[in-house]
Amino acid sequence: SQAKVFDKDQKVSTNFKDVAGLAEAKQEVEEIVQFLKSPAKYTKLGGKIPKGALLVGPPGTGKTLLAKAVAGEANVPFFSMSGSDFVEMFVGVGASRVRDLFKQAKEKAPCIIFIDEIDAIGRARGRNPNMGSNDERENTLNQLLTEMDGFDTNSGVIILAATNRADILDRALMRAGRFDRQIHVELPDLNERAEIFNVHLRPLKLNEDAKVEFLSKQTPGFSGADIANVCNEAALIAARKDRESVTKQDFLDAVDRIIGGLEKKNKIISQDE
Ligand code: ATP
Repeated sequence: SQAKVFDKDQKVSTNFKDVAGLAEAKQEVEEIVQFLKSPAKYTKLGGKIPKGALLVGPPGTGKTLLAKAVAGEANVPFFSMSGSDFVEMFVGVGASRVRDLFKQAKEKAPCIIFIDEIDAIGRARGRNPNMGSNDERENTLNQLLTEMDGFDTNSGVIILAATNRADILDRALMRAGRFDRQIHVELPDLNERAEIFNVHLRPLKLNEDAKVEFLSKQTPGFSGADIANVCNEAALIAARKDRESVTKQDFLDAVDRIIGGLEKKNKIISQDE
């Protein structure tokens, strides 16, 4: 089958206001927005605009959201692909997809290229010969390095990549002129969870007993994605009960359900090991 390998979003509607918490990360990517909006301001004194940055942090913390918001704020197209789509590809296919992606992106510059789960293609090369090498993965990685080296820093294409395993990435990816900046995206603390709840409660019809402070306290260790799930699940539970609005109890039931799901996932992971 012809796997879909990259997406193109010409008109991104995600903005920084959709990204709650992550104050430091937002501040760092704000600079990228400025590079995209007024490159000349930065290059006229001889400076080189960075080619890319690596967003590092646990699953569901908003890395994709943040990358999309950069494109939305700068009002530029967003090209995206996931590293995991490249595993087990036929010889030559991964590398040629990467080539196509960069070709199209350069034509649409200024723009963002976002590579999710870059560790799937960017794992360190050939460390253990007995592991059975995935040649196409290496070809894909080499093509990515070639593409990154092959365009002018001031071409207006900025590459953001996300990973939760920066430790296993091939050092070559982090060399100067490639992903030489790392932006950390961490799990939210209590106040940040409140901010994330405020974003995801916006579309809900809330009962007055459902309070953000209470909900934030009930959800230690939850990611932004988990919180988005809680809000949606609570609304569905309330609807099933034919309620007029979403109550505190619906949120508690939703939290239990999400915790149950997370525990099941952890159990499966530990069985695999
Ligand atoms: P993964 O590593 O699993 O790809 P990610 O870090 O890229 O995860 P996203 O895909 O950006 O996470 O987050 C999933 C969803 O969770 C978002 O679309 C959004 O609804 C919600 N979310 C996550 N983080 C935040 C945040 N900081 N503010 C608001 N919503 C968030």
